[in-house]
Amino acid sequence: MPQPSLIEIWKKKKSQSVAETKDILKRLKRRRGKQLDQLADEVHEAVFSKIDCLDCAGCCAGIPPIVTKSDTGRIAKELGMKPAEFERQYLVEDEDGDTVMNATPCPFLQSDNKCRIYEVRPKACRQYPHTDYLSFSKNMKLHAPNTAICPGVFHILRRLDEVK
Ligand code: SF4
Ligand code: SF4
Repeated sequence: MPQPSLIEIWKKKKSQSVAETKDILKRLKRRRGKQLDQLADEVHEAVFSKIDCLDCAGCCAGIPPIVTKSDTGRIAKELGMKPAEFERQYLVEDEDGDTVMNATPCPFLQSDNKCRIYEVRPKACRQYPHTDYLSFSKNMKLHAPNTAICPGVFHILRRLDEVK
């Protein structure tokens, strides 16, 4: 029988594993630092070698990314728009005062799960899910909510917790 994929395992376990995730994060917080970040980077690579984001698109469907001024200039140019026009059509200020895409799923997510502006996508999209090189410890508070969105984060936390 074929092994279930990491995405299938996550779908089955994510809602039953909330308390387990909290416990894992408590243990990982005690280990935060460069050594944990280097290990997280290796585990990130290993997990994402087994997950194709095009089979998921959970982040693009569920979290409006922050869009900076420099993102806006780059994306507007690619779309042949003026930055102000792009802002009016696609951006909004959220409750934290950040400028973000104005819709979920993202207006640039296509039906095949590809990003229409992939080459010029916002920096926040490139950095998600904040588990690769030197990002892991700095973004501890994001990992619990991201476990519900991203199968990668779910598996990275569990593999890191297994390495003592
Ligand atoms: S801009 Fe592209 S990568 Fe970013 S959320 Fe939208 S579809 Fe996803
Ligand atoms: S939620 Fe995680 S696995 Fe899914 S597309 Fe985004 S980064 Fe990839």
